[in-house]
Amino acid sequence: MQVTIIGGGIAGLCCGVELAGRGIGVELLERSSPPPGSQGCSWCAGGMLAPWCELADGGEPLIAELGRESLAWWRTHYPDLCSQGTLVLAAARDRAELTHFAQRTQHWRQLEGTAQIAELEPQLAERHESGLHLAAEAHVDPRRVLPFLAERLRVLGGELRHGVELTEDELVTLVEAATRHGRVVIDCRGLGARAALPDLRGVRGEMLLLHSRELRLHRPVRLLHPRLPLYVVPRGEGVYLVGATMIESDDAGAVTARAALELLSAAYALHPAFGEARILELGAQVRPAFPDNLPQIRRVGAVWHINGLYRHGFLLAPALAWRMAEMLQHGRSYPELTHEDPAQRRLA
Ligand SMILES: Cc1cc2nc3c(=O)[nH]c(=O)nc-3n(C[C@H](O)[C@H](O)[C@H](O)COP(=O)(O)OP(=O)(O)OC[C@H]3O[C@@H](n4cnc5c(N)ncnc54)[C@H](O)[C@@H]3O)c2cc1C
Repeated sequence: MQVTIIGGGIAGLCCGVELAGRGIGVELLERSSPPPGSQGCSWCAGGMLAPWCELADGGEPLIAELGRESLAWWRTHYPDLCSQGTLVLAAARDRAELTHFAQRTQHWRQLEGTAQIAELEPQLAERHESGLHLAAEAHVDPRRVLPFLAERLRVLGGELRHGVELTEDELVTLVEAATRHGRVVIDCRGLGARAALPDLRGVRGEMLLLHSRELRLHRPVRLLHPRLPLYVVPRGEGVYLVGATMIESDDAGAVTARAALELLSAAYALHPAFGEARILELGAQVRPAFPDNLPQIRRVGAVWHINGLYRHGFLLAPALAWRMAEMLQHGRSYPELTHEDPAQRRLA
């Protein structure tokens, strides 16, 4: 079997690696120049692999289930996975937020008193007296993972072609040729596939990269707050990603002053040393989402789409890639993910 994948963000790269690992011939077309995925949403992500935090944050059980499977995939395929879990904190006055969070999820350990917090994050112990540790969660640095997966694809015999930006007309021609030659086409263009997936929408997310000489955090920290929830993800060598806003908009323009103020205030509330940190980058990207915020593997005509990864791309992409491969190789079906094309339903 031969497959052409369009789009080299996390969805396309995981799919390419999974298929190539099964001996399938993979060609991946990506519009950006290297590093792969640098023009898409994946480049700005926190890289948290946090199925149980997502469950508490209003995520569907399906997200947690796929997330658990993906964590196993990451453990097998990515040697630099950071497996320190997630620390969830709330200010003393927001203690109810922590209780509410714990009620909605599983696999957490209650941390009571500064000593227990100090065991995990000594620098946060002075200002936070209670929290939750979700030890089974993990995180990756997207800007290391994307090139790693691209190289893995190459080693497995796949071909990644950069600088190929397909127009909708070129896509039609490519699909016609692929169909003639028995090639499968998988579209992983994220929001770039909106013309083919009219119910796809954008959810804007803004983030900051900060460098602190003083702080040494070891794991993602989520600070619960009724108005300004935030997370900080360590990237190593004093670099931290602070995120992220969630705005119903497909505007990928520069970070707004309001977002920067909110993210910086929340980071400062987590630890005042963030006040002295240097701002390395302010970034904004748009998450591709379907109306129910759940991912889909959808067939439109001759093209398969893996899309709607919303705020869970790194958490879900391996599980979706694995299912896509099982569908192509063994004809298995996954009704929870494979939705009919609404346009075709209207025509029926
Ligand atoms: C601030 C922020 C923080 C986030 N944090 C997390 C997190 O901690 N954990 C998590 O799991 N998820 C997180 N996400 C969500 C995650 O980033 C997305 O779900 C994921 O990136 C979607 O991946 P994708 O491959 O579908 O799309 P994209 O990453 O957008 O990739 C699509 C690719 O297709 C290419 N492309 C588009 N059009 C064409 C074309 N015509 N021809 C050729 N190539 C094309 C693009 O260049 C791009 O590389 C976050 C998102 C944001 C914005």
